[in-house]
Amino acid sequence: MDIAARIRLVGFRKWYERQLIDSHLSLTTCFLSGITIAACLEEVRLAETGWRTTALLAIVFAAALLCAYSWRRYLTVLERAETYGSRSSCPACRTYARFDILASGSGTQGPYLDPEETALPYPWLRVRCRKCATAWRLPD
Ligand SMILES: [Zn+2]
Repeated sequence: MDIAARIRLVGFRKWYERQLIDSHLSLTTCFLSGITIAACLEEVRLAETGWRTTALLAIVFAAALLCAYSWRRYLTVLERAETYGSRSSCPACRTYARFDILASGSGTQGPYLDPEETALPYPWLRVRCRKCATAWRLPD
């Protein structure tokens, strides 16, 4: 489900909250993977070859992959949440996160977008304040 559909379904506040929870679960996974790596490396005895050493090194390798993936996901999800969150207040009345999505899209097709500007990494949202009906674009 894309960002606009998810925000329409649960509202911006819940979407933002879930993004923060998601990103911090990834950070926790990354941290636990690091602990797993340290614990397994402490048990590895390179002088002894056998299935135990091989299994421990395989666990270290898998934990390192999981740690790298989790760290990347943490940064990506948090950056996306902050990108939308930084523009979620109405520019006219400063009401936070109370808007309706009028349109959405990706790339340089969005309203108020400079044609010289490079493509956005996230979809743009054209939104309207529920309190004062001012329209603006997310992210800027
Ligand atoms: Zn407003």
